[in-house]
Amino acid sequence: MTIVVSPRWIWDAAGGLRGGQHVVIEGNRIADVVAEAPTLDADRIALPDSLLIPGFVNLHNHAFSAPLFRGLADDIGEADLPGDVVYSLLMPLGDIAAEILDEEEIGDVAEMALLENLKGGSTTIMDIWRLQQAPFVGRAKRLGLRTYSCPYLFSTPKMDMTPDGKPVTAPLAADTGFGTVMALIAAHDEGPRGRTRVGFGPHGLDTCTPDLLRQIGAAVEKLGVPLTIHAAQSAVELGIVQERYGTSPIRHLRDLGLLRPGTVLAHCVFATDEELAIVKEHGAAIASCPYAFARSGVAVPFARFLDSGIRLGVGTDGVGLDMVAELRAAALLAKVQAGRAGIASAEAMLGAATLSGAEAILRPDLGVIAPGATADLLLFDLSGARYQPVWNPLQALLTNGVAADLHSLFVDGVPLLRDRQVLVADEVSVVRRGGAAIRRVWDHARDMGRLPAGIAARLAQ
Ligand SMILES: [Zn+2]
Repeated sequence: MTIVVSPRWIWDAAGGLRGGQHVVIEGNRIADVVAEAPTLDADRIALPDSLLIPGFVNLHNHAFSAPLFRGLADDIGEADLPGDVVYSLLMPLGDIAAEILDEEEIGDVAEMALLENLKGGSTTIMDIWRLQQAPFVGRAKRLGLRTYSCPYLFSTPKMDMTPDGKPVTAPLAADTGFGTVMALIAAHDEGPRGRTRVGFGPHGLDTCTPDLLRQIGAAVEKLGVPLTIHAAQSAVELGIVQERYGTSPIRHLRDLGLLRPGTVLAHCVFATDEELAIVKEHGAAIASCPYAFARSGVAVPFARFLDSGIRLGVGTDGVGLDMVAELRAAALLAKVQAGRAGIASAEAMLGAATLSGAEAILRPDLGVIAPGATADLLLFDLSGARYQPVWNPLQALLTNGVAADLHSLFVDGVPLLRDRQVLVADEVSVVRRGGAAIRRVWDHARDMGRLPAGIAARLAQ
């Protein structure tokens, strides 16, 4: 079936903003972008005051973590949790979820989160999940989303904190998960042009040995699968890498040969300007998630990332899975950091979330609206009061827009959302099932005395 979309405006980072165009979708491709509405027999979506842009590439997502930690990891003070939030709350709770939820429940949580991603404008999602969370793949396929699954690998099975916030590293694991990930790749990865990709997500430089990282690097090179890793994301990690290897996380990655095009480095909050230059020189990309870090009182150096000219994408991490909200938070943070209103313009932010993110995963065709490009698209309805008057639709969307005004979303030419309705799932049922599974994790953690006291108190309310 041919679909013709006739918006008021079209924008992509390659061609800029233009009006009066019709986009013809055939199969999974954009067949044409034309000034005259084609007369062929087609399904038509014509919406005045609408903006058509490439789908958002969400470059760092933890679908499972978002609903799992929602409401429990907010407004955390010293009295609630003395240690680092990642190591003393998020990772242990993730362990508990992995222990007690069955496959169906894990799938339900993933599907609920992916639904949130979809409604937040993500058409491509690079997600890092634990090996027990593999039902993610089937649920994402069912919804029709484009996913780059990068399951976690660990050399140390877990890392906890002492009550005074010191990291406790467990002995090396007998199984890093490498074999399991290889099997998942063999079973599910659809290759460089596929909608479902599976690759590697070694957790970090503090939790993965050089041997494991070299093994992963060789497999990525041989198989051409995705690779992402958390790097320079916390002071704890920096301290461990310095102590063990006498270097910094970014330099360590370079020395291991992992900095190259296609590698996505999550966060890099503690990277120096010199290290950003190293990342740039090697063609790797950074996935930045300012909203998640701001919640813990940490300012991601987003303005420095922009100024460095590095390949930069944006991800929702594991808080709200809404790319419009994420981009606004990132833009505001960058303006505050730089003390300049002109930085992080709407166009720059949308570019990071579309073409730049697409290039980071070596799929530039996902980031443009042009004949031959893959039809991953978002149509925003800018007719509402909050956008008036629309002088510049990009600024209207970034400054005051909400994802709820997403009218249609396409992946591979297929509408997953249309007329603001999700077409690929029964939302009420998905939310009910996913919510119940999360509740069971929290209740179990509390009942077993495994929640820090300050956090357990929140469940009692
Ligand atoms: Zn992460």
